[in-house]
Amino acid sequence: MILLSVAHSASAKGAYNPAYSVSEYELSQIMTSSCKSILDINQIPCDVLDVGKMRPYMSYKLNYIRRVKPELAIEIHLNSGNKNADYPMCVYYKNNALTKRCAQIILNNLKTGFEKQGWTKVRLLEVPTEIKGFDNSRYTFVTKTPCPSIIVEPLFISNNEQCKYLLSHGALNSIGEMIGEAILDWHAEKTHKGAV
Ligand SMILES: [Zn+2]
Repeated sequence: MILLSVAHSASAKGAYNPAYSVSEYELSQIMTSSCKSILDINQIPCDVLDVGKMRPYMSYKLNYIRRVKPELAIEIHLNSGNKNADYPMCVYYKNNALTKRCAQIILNNLKTGFEKQGWTKVRLLEVPTEIKGFDNSRYTFVTKTPCPSIIVEPLFISNNEQCKYLLSHGALNSIGEMIGEAILDWHAEKTHKGAV
């Protein structure tokens, strides 16, 4: 089963953009549900975890994951440690070929999807990393989750141009769908390899 975990929670909503009065949590809910619909249509078993007002939300999340044991857990965020960031980013756990491959496919899809907007750079990040000044604790979901896991940062809510785009008609749904399609491709590739 693939677990799609909504980023942050209803009481700790993650990054907030005051110019547009939106936070990561509510936008992640929309992208996550569009991603799920792609997996549902293609009959890939998946589940959405939205912790709502539970707190502390991270330990609730990790306990839940420990219980349901997904083959992959994914969270879609919209913020970076770096305020100037403007590229889609995927974060995966060090030395895990499975999640690395999935992260690569997701980034390829996002790269193609954002070509029109001119956002052509992408970043694949392995954590924990030794990069100087890098705060690994920002990526607890990847470093502490007891299953293969990925954080996707398709765009950044802190970047006003990107935030405006996120709120444009259909943008969040289309991002969720791009991620869903990537998971499908990854799943098919993995299944095919396993069958050989
Ligand atoms: Zn976040």
